[in-house]
Amino acid sequence: RRSASTDPASDPASVGGGPGERGRLEVRELAKSFGAQQVLRGVTLSVEPGSTTAIVGPSGSGKTTLLRLIAGFERADAGMVVLSGRGLAGGDEWVPAHHRDVGYVAQDGALFPHLTVGQNIAFGMDRATGARARRATRTRVAELLEMVSLDAALAERRPHEISGGQQQRVALARALAREPELMLLDESFSALDAGLRVATRRTVGAVLRDAGITTVLVTHDQAEALSFADQVAVMRDGLLAQVDSPLEVYTRPVDRATAEFLGDAV
Ligand code: ADP
Repeated sequence: RRSASTDPASDPASVGGGPGERGRLEVRELAKSFGAQQVLRGVTLSVEPGSTTAIVGPSGSGKTTLLRLIAGFERADAGMVVLSGRGLAGGDEWVPAHHRDVGYVAQDGALFPHLTVGQNIAFGMDRATGARARRATRTRVAELLEMVSLDAALAERRPHEISGGQQQRVALARALAREPELMLLDESFSALDAGLRVATRRTVGAVLRDAGITTVLVTHDQAEALSFADQVAVMRDGLLAQVDSPLEVYTRPVDRATAEFLGDAV
């Protein structure tokens, strides 16, 4: 069982294994308050390149806030975020969200309703001008659709003309279009019905693993945490109470609530 460091390193290059190791995520002593409410109270987490970490914990414990800080949608009050040896936040460093090699897929996918599937996916890519560049974009969109097991013909549809599971896959394709080093999934499959959830989770898991993309996901789904992740992080009241392998968290849960949560999976 790893516990939070009491001596936060201040030099990004000194954190983790190889300083510049692509896809390694290091979060150190991250703190965040909204008004008087302290939502994160010193969160420390290491994620190996290409691995998947599931964050579990009760509603309101700070899981989404942690993802949003890693993505750069919010600024932390203290602590730091280092990806691939590059300081993204902390000290004097601040890299805005759109300059981070980070993909984010929200619970509802959040596709732009007025754009086609193809336009949604191309949105994050370099703006193409000229017929040749437009062709290249179309080819890349078709490639990305294939990666997430969707028919290329869907590119012409609008989000409301495809199913929820398909929308989630399009949201993933859009996030993948930026070729991120890190993918953040915030309960991305929870709105889907059980069968679709399993199928979508499998597809997405395979895509991310094959691409070697480091993944951090927030989930309320025990089976997802246990089957999908290399590492499970248990959030309690703004702190990580336990960070361990799924087997370790399952057989030696840090507290009763975690035991009950994971116990439901069997
Ligand atoms: P979780 O994802 O574990 O359910 P969140 O990170 O969404 O938890 O929220 C943790 C707490 O922070 C909640 O009490 C929530 O109301 C509060 N919170 C989150 N974002 C904001 C915000 N932008 N402004 C004020 N309070 C917020």
